[in-house]
Amino acid sequence: MILIVDDKPENRISLRKFLEKSNFEVDEAGSGEEALKKIYNNLYSLIILDVQMPGMDGFEVAETILGYSKAADTPILFLSAVNIDKEFITRGYRAGGVDYITKPFDPDILLLKVKTFNRLFEQTHELKEIKEKLTGEIEQRKVLEKKKDEFISIASHELRTPLTSMRGYIQLLERMLAKEKNEAIKTYIGKAGYQINKLNELVDDLLDISRIDSGKLEFKWKAFSLSDMLKQTVENISQMHRDYNIELKGDTDIELIGDELRLEQVVVNFLTNAIKYSPNNKEIFVKTTLSKDQVKVSVTDYGIGISPELQTKLFEKFFRVEENAVRFQGLGIGLFICADIIHRHRGTCGVESEPGKGSTFFFKIPRDQPSVS
Ligand code: ADP
Repeated sequence: MILIVDDKPENRISLRKFLEKSNFEVDEAGSGEEALKKIYNNLYSLIILDVQMPGMDGFEVAETILGYSKAADTPILFLSAVNIDKEFITRGYRAGGVDYITKPFDPDILLLKVKTFNRLFEQTHELKEIKEKLTGEIEQRKVLEKKKDEFISIASHELRTPLTSMRGYIQLLERMLAKEKNEAIKTYIGKAGYQINKLNELVDDLLDISRIDSGKLEFKWKAFSLSDMLKQTVENISQMHRDYNIELKGDTDIELIGDELRLEQVVVNFLTNAIKYSPNNKEIFVKTTLSKDQVKVSVTDYGIGISPELQTKLFEKFFRVEENAVRFQGLGIGLFICADIIHRHRGTCGVESEPGKGSTFFFKIPRDQPSVS
């Protein structure tokens, strides 16, 4: 709606008729004071202000409007019998436009200006509404995200307690059945134990995720032998996957400062992925390369590989390659945790891969770490 402010009723009436003919909604005020009251209570898309009025003149009204946040975006068009000092009209007006037209005015020019200002106001208004809506949605998403993180944290803690006791009972049963002749019972208990271990690993990963999200993933820094850790890890994984041939290559006798268990977790993750994603080729290499101030550990498989455009996303939380998601089970959190662990060691994770040929996942970390306790 457009507000016409003019002390002369005949001027208001003719302007009103003219604008209404062009389908604009119009309101009127006969003085500066009345205009201010109306502007305070209503939202106008344009204010057409007569400059010469008894009492408050058009400029004073415009100055006062500046203080109203509600009318800050409303453009003002001055109507004046004399030329307005341009300095005045460019002074201090923030968002909405401001312009003037001298009387007697050319109706076509007036209409053009009214239409332009009206459109400007509508667009500004629409943008404002979109911005408010988006801000609201972002806030809502943040709240939901926080609730989801809290849920993961609580759920994984809750899952852990019954899992730990089940694990204990299975271990007890395994010991009791050591001399058992019935092989089927032994096999089933062994399988149940294996599945419980897998569940336990999943819960551990979920717990790590919520610790990373809340910045509470703790590290224990100390000097250790990377070579011994790798040897032991390769041995353990090889025992669990006897059909795979995992070979350790490269520099030996590497001492490192870092969190041994966490780095082992990264290697285990790379290795179990290498096994999982190469069902048809059972060769895997673990390689260490030592340079002056950093060490690189890489795990190479000859499995399904990953296309180049997806490689940058692999270390993101919950990312899984969609086309393989049904064939291979997983949650898409292992590599995210690896990247965080390596990042905390001031290092980087990376991947080189070709679809159908295989992948090399690696991490590089500096040999000295700042925080040793
Ligand atoms: P998960 O294996 O549980 O889905 P990860 O975070 O460990 O989660 O891996 C993320 C994704 O990266 C996997 O879903 C898989 O698509 C891809 N990926 C990881 N390692 C390999 C690999 N060695 N070969 C092919 N794809 C892999």
